[in-house]
Amino acid sequence: MRVGYPSPVDFALAPEDEKFRDELRAWLDENLPPFLEAEALGDDARLSGEASQQRRQKWQRTLHEGGWAAIHWGPEYAKGRTINAMQRLIYSEVMAEYRTPGMFNTNGIWQIGPMIIQWGTEEQKAEWLPSILEAEEHWCQGFSEPMAGNDLANLRTTALYDPEADEYVVNGSKIWISSAHLATWGLFLLRTDPTAIERGKKHEGITAFVLNLKTPGIDVRPIRDMAGEELFNEIFFTDVRIPAKWRLGEEGAGWMVAMGTLGFERVGIASQIAILAADLRAVVEAARSVNPDALEDPSLRDRIAKLWTEIELARLLSLRALSKIMKGEKNWPEVPFAKLSWSSMAQTLSELAVDLLGPAGVLAKGGPDTVDRGKWTRLYAFQRYSTIGGGSTEIQKNIIADRAIAMPGKSRS
Ligand SMILES: Cc1cc2nc3c(=O)[nH]c(=O)nc-3n(C[C@H](O)[C@H](O)[C@H](O)COP(=O)(O)OP(=O)(O)OC[C@H]3O[C@@H](n4cnc5c(N)ncnc54)[C@H](O)[C@@H]3O)c2cc1C
Repeated sequence: MRVGYPSPVDFALAPEDEKFRDELRAWLDENLPPFLEAEALGDDARLSGEASQQRRQKWQRTLHEGGWAAIHWGPEYAKGRTINAMQRLIYSEVMAEYRTPGMFNTNGIWQIGPMIIQWGTEEQKAEWLPSILEAEEHWCQGFSEPMAGNDLANLRTTALYDPEADEYVVNGSKIWISSAHLATWGLFLLRTDPTAIERGKKHEGITAFVLNLKTPGIDVRPIRDMAGEELFNEIFFTDVRIPAKWRLGEEGAGWMVAMGTLGFERVGIASQIAILAADLRAVVEAARSVNPDALEDPSLRDRIAKLWTEIELARLLSLRALSKIMKGEKNWPEVPFAKLSWSSMAQTLSELAVDLLGPAGVLAKGGPDTVDRGKWTRLYAFQRYSTIGGGSTEIQKNIIADRAIAMPGKSRS
C-alpha cells in the first residue's frame, strides 16, 4: 500500500455473517417453494384484503416456526438466534433476493415489539409479545395527528388520568394510521399533560400507550389513497376509558419511546434499499418479456444505469452507517442521507418501471393481463408516499443542514 492513501475497504463478510446468510438461504430454499405452492390463491392482487392478510399471517407463522420472524428480538423469541447489525442487513437483502411475501405484523415485529421489550413490564411483555410474534392479532402505530406530522411533539389527543378508576380517558383524533382498520392493537402516543404545549415544553407530557382498538368510543375510518386503496385511517376517540396498565413506560416518557421507534424505522431504510435493487432487476426482467424494445432505447438504458449506480451508492452509505453502529459510533448523517436518497430512488424506480413496461405498464392492479399483478402501476401512484412517510424530505434536509454541515442560520426544527 502506498503511504498517504487510505487503507482499502474490505467488503468481505465475516465468517459468522456468511454462515448466517447461508443458513437463511438454505431455510428459504426448503420452505419458500412449498409455502408458495400451497397457496392456491398465490396471486396477491386478486386476493381480497382479508385473504391477503391471511396469506401474510401464514407466512409470518412459517417464519416464526423456523426462528426467522423476529430475529432482532433476541434468543428468547428467535429460537436461540442472536444477530448483529450486519446480519440484520443480510436478512433484508436475502429476503429481497428471494422476493418473499410480506409479514402480517411488519410494524409490530420491526418497531413495536422492540419497544415493548425495552419499556414494558414483565406482565405487558407476556400479554402483548406473543400476539405480535405469532400473528394472532394485527398491530398498528398511531402517532400522527392533523396538527402533528413532522412536528410530532405538537400532538394534542389527550389521555387524562382518573385516579378513582385507575383509568385514562382519551379524547381527540389521529390520522394516516396504516392498517388500523385491520388492527386489534396499536402503539399510540397521547398527551397526558395538556398544559405542556402552552408552557412551551411540547416534548414533555407525552405518554406511550398500547391500546385495544375495539374499546368502546374508538371509531376507525379508512381513507382511500391515490392508488385506490384503503391503507390508512383516521381514528376518533370520544371519552374512551382505558386501564392504566396499558401505559407503556412512565407518564411523560412518550417522546423517548417514540424516538426509539422512529430510530428503528430509519435503520429499516437499509432494507428498503435492498428491496429497490431486487425490484429494479425484476422490472428489467419483466420488460425483457413484455416490451423488449424498451431495453434497446438509449435514454431508458441510461436511466436504468443511473438508477442502478444510485442504488449501489445508497447501499454503500448503509454499510458505512452499519459499520459506525458496530463501532459504537453515531450512525448519522448517513441515516438521514440514506432516507433522502431512498425516497427519491423509490419514485424514480416506479416511474422507470411503467416506462419500461410500455402499454402493459398502465394496466391497473387486478386486471387479467397485468405484469406482476399490476404491482408497478400501483407503485407509480403509491410511491408518492416515500417523500412524506417516516419524516419528509424537507425535514431530512433540515436535519442535514443543521446538524451534519452546521449551516449558519436559525434552527429550522
Ligand atoms: C402511506 C403513509 C402511511 C403512513 N402511516 C402512518 C402510520 O402508520 N402511523 C402514523 O402515525 N403516521 C403515519 N403516516 C403519517 C406520516 O408519518 C406523516 O404524513 C408525516 O410525518 C408527515 O406529516 P404530515 O403529513 O402531517 O405533513 P406536515 O408535517 O404537515 O408537512 C407538510 C409539508 O410541509 C413541510 N414541512 C413541515 N414542516 C417543515 C419545516 N419545519 N421545514 C420545512 N418544511 C416543512 C413537509 O416537508 C411537507 O412537505 C403515514 C403517511 C403515509 C403517507
